[in-house]
Amino acid sequence: MKQCFYGKGVFAGRGFRKGDKILAFSGPVIHRSQLPIPILPENDYYLQIGEDFFLGPSGEPDDFVNHSCDPNAGVIVQFNSAILLAIHPIKWGDEIFFDYSTTMDNAPCEIDCHCKSPSCRGRIENFLLLPVPVQQKYVQLGIVPDYILKKFLKKYAASRRIINTPIRRLISC
Ligand SMILES: [Zn+2]
Repeated sequence: MKQCFYGKGVFAGRGFRKGDKILAFSGPVIHRSQLPIPILPENDYYLQIGEDFFLGPSGEPDDFVNHSCDPNAGVIVQFNSAILLAIHPIKWGDEIFFDYSTTMDNAPCEIDCHCKSPSCRGRIENFLLLPVPVQQKYVQLGIVPDYILKKFLKKYAASRRIINTPIRRLISC
C-alpha cells in the first residue's frame, strides 16, 4: 500500500498471472440497514457481497484497492467473504484496481469517476446500469456475484445472444 493519485492504493508486491488470488477482503459483515448515511466517497470502505450485505472496513490493504473502468483485477464473492483475483497479468509495482460497479446492486453510494482510463465511463454506478458489452465482459470473466448475475440473466432473458454466452470461472469456488 502506498500513496498514489487517489490518496492511497494497493500495488503488486510480486507478479500475478491471470486467475491468481491477490488478497482476501475482510471486515465485519454489515446489513444494508446498518450502513452509515450518507456514505461519503472518501469513507466508502464497504464492499457489497450480497443483495443487502456488505463487508465493512477492515483497516487492512483490502480497504484501499481503487476503482478503474479498465481494471486488472476482479472480485469473487463466496458466501460471507470475497477475494480479489487478477483478470490480467499484473507486474510487480503495478497498481491493482477492480471495477467497483461489478459488485454494486442498488448501491447506497454512486460517484463520478476520474480513473483516466480510455474506457472511463465517468460514473461508478450499479452493475445493471453499465453498457451491455461491459456487463458481458465481466460476466464472461466470472467476476459478477450471483446476487447480480441472477438479475442480469433475468433482465436479458429475451436475448439468446447474451444467455448463450459461456460463463467461465477463473477459479472453482
Ligand atoms: Zn473511470
